[in-house]
Amino acid sequence: MALKVDIDNLQRATEKLIKRLFAEGVVDALADVLDENVIGFSPSGHYYSRGSWEVKRFLQGEYERLAPCSISKIRSRQFVREGQLSIESHIIMTSLQQRKLLLLNITTMYRMVPDGFTINGINMALDYDREKTYELLTESNVSDLEFLASYDSATGLFNREAFCIRAADMMTDYPDKSFDILRINIERFKIINEIFGEQQGDKLLNYLAGFMKSIDMKLCLSARLYADNFVMCFEAREGEAEKLIYTMQIVANSFEISHHTVLTFGLYHVDDMSIPVSTMIERANMALNQVKGNHVTPYCVYDDKMRNQMLLEQMIVNEFDSALEHGGFKLFLQPKYDLRTEQIIGSEALVRWIKEDGSSVVPSLFIPVLERNGSVYAVDRYIWEETCKSLRRWTDSGKLVKPVSVNVSRIDLYDPDLISFLVGLTQKYDIPKNLLELEITESAYTDDPKMIMEVTERLQNEGFVILMDDFGSGYSSLNMLKDIHIDILKLDMGFLRSTDQTGRGGNILSAVVQMAKSLNLHTIAEGVETREQVDFLKSIGCYWVQGYYYSKPIPVEEFEKLI
Ligand code: C2E
Ligand code: MG
Ligand code: MG
Repeated sequence: MALKVDIDNLQRATEKLIKRLFAEGVVDALADVLDENVIGFSPSGHYYSRGSWEVKRFLQGEYERLAPCSISKIRSRQFVREGQLSIESHIIMTSLQQRKLLLLNITTMYRMVPDGFTINGINMALDYDREKTYELLTESNVSDLEFLASYDSATGLFNREAFCIRAADMMTDYPDKSFDILRINIERFKIINEIFGEQQGDKLLNYLAGFMKSIDMKLCLSARLYADNFVMCFEAREGEAEKLIYTMQIVANSFEISHHTVLTFGLYHVDDMSIPVSTMIERANMALNQVKGNHVTPYCVYDDKMRNQMLLEQMIVNEFDSALEHGGFKLFLQPKYDLRTEQIIGSEALVRWIKEDGSSVVPSLFIPVLERNGSVYAVDRYIWEETCKSLRRWTDSGKLVKPVSVNVSRIDLYDPDLISFLVGLTQKYDIPKNLLELEITESAYTDDPKMIMEVTERLQNEGFVILMDDFGSGYSSLNMLKDIHIDILKLDMGFLRSTDQTGRGGNILSAVVQMAKSLNLHTIAEGVETREQVDFLKSIGCYWVQGYYYSKPIPVEEFEKLI
């Protein structure tokens, strides 16, 4: 068979064949037009093949050695040497397999036949030397360098810088239109790399990039920012973003690996074109971060609340070290009472962050942030030590000393030194271990039940009293209580509040208290605010309470006046 084109179109037809060979692996298109006596030279120059069958095999081999590939540019010229009509093509492409930007020179030699042309020689020369590639390009055409610099070599999409410039240009060029910025991330991409290999991971990236390139919208830019993070900017139209998200999710799942690939998305609707595109990308990222782990709605839209939350988090992270060093964290104690005697039976240590201007930040705001960045252990250790100091002081001054429970964050439980640190504290301040009680939140048990059970068992064996905090707020089942090493069940305040006390809620609470008793567990109710709640708790036999009805958390000095 012959390539049925006239000589003026031969150059274009050759480029098309090369593109099909490397971008899609369509060897047959080329093989179809090979002369029976064709000669092929492999890139290394050592491998020589003769005849259409051998050359086809050699082309196939080359493709497989480099694939997947993405071609950024082909430039060809046509020449005749010693009567041989040839097309020399310079190809800039990326081999994802070899993780390299390559310059490939292919000279295709043609023979004229009655209905077109056949290929009677192919010579491939591969140049792995990037420097040289640049050199060659600068010699011929400076704009090619810019071209290379704008692209992400692995996927052929724009890189961050080019995206920012072009998106800003696009917005300036179309001031009457509105735009969306969409960030796209592959959930647990690392795992895909680990299980299926980096090659497959790269292939997936390219697969998605391929889809992005194929999107048929007039105003649309796509880029890979880094790793598995992509961004798009497109004209905002009703339902467009949702459609894109939906389609991309399907595309990701149609990838060849046997893994349910989940994409997550963060959308920023550009409401202020004057801010830098990099900030827009950040905003879309904030939205994206809200999605993590939520597979029901895999995307989130940016709003200003997110920004404020981020600013707050930034403040917390920035000021944390200095606050810890300069005594910004204070120990507060909230007394616990026995309803029958109305006497204090102990207290809970709660941290307060007092800022220099006297304002305070509540723990529910900063503890989760510190848990995320791992600094919570430092606050906890500080509070535990302050607690031990107080216990020592009370003992020394002859007060009747009751236990204090401290909060142990889920992060602490992963610390291999946790137990020795706690034991060390009780030794340093010479206090009995049962005076330092440990509160572990219910939800920590569902994170990693096996590990938590091991740690709590060891802590219990050491002589510490373990409380399960916030019981009833999460998903733990009553069933797990029988296997767990705890001493006291702390009923979450939500439990109490949702209880209409006479109806179903009341029955459930009453049943929980009964069951805890049968398992030899004590119960304490937290968040007790009203007389009615007190009476109800008494009626169901839950005698220990903690809550505003009796006292708010107070500074240590104030607490000392109560005991
Ligand atoms: P938690 O351990 O469940 O502590 C009980 C929370 O309920 C405290 O909030 C307390 O002030 C509040 N509270 C007590 N009685 C009442 C009441 O009658 N009504 C209402 N509405 N609230 C009541 P706080 O001090 O803001 O602490 C919030 C959470 O922050 C704590 O919940 C605990 O999980 C965490 N936390 C506090 N201090 C520390 C700490 O030193 N380390 C760690 N890791 N977490 C801490
Ligand atoms: Mg607690
Ligand atoms: Mg609690």
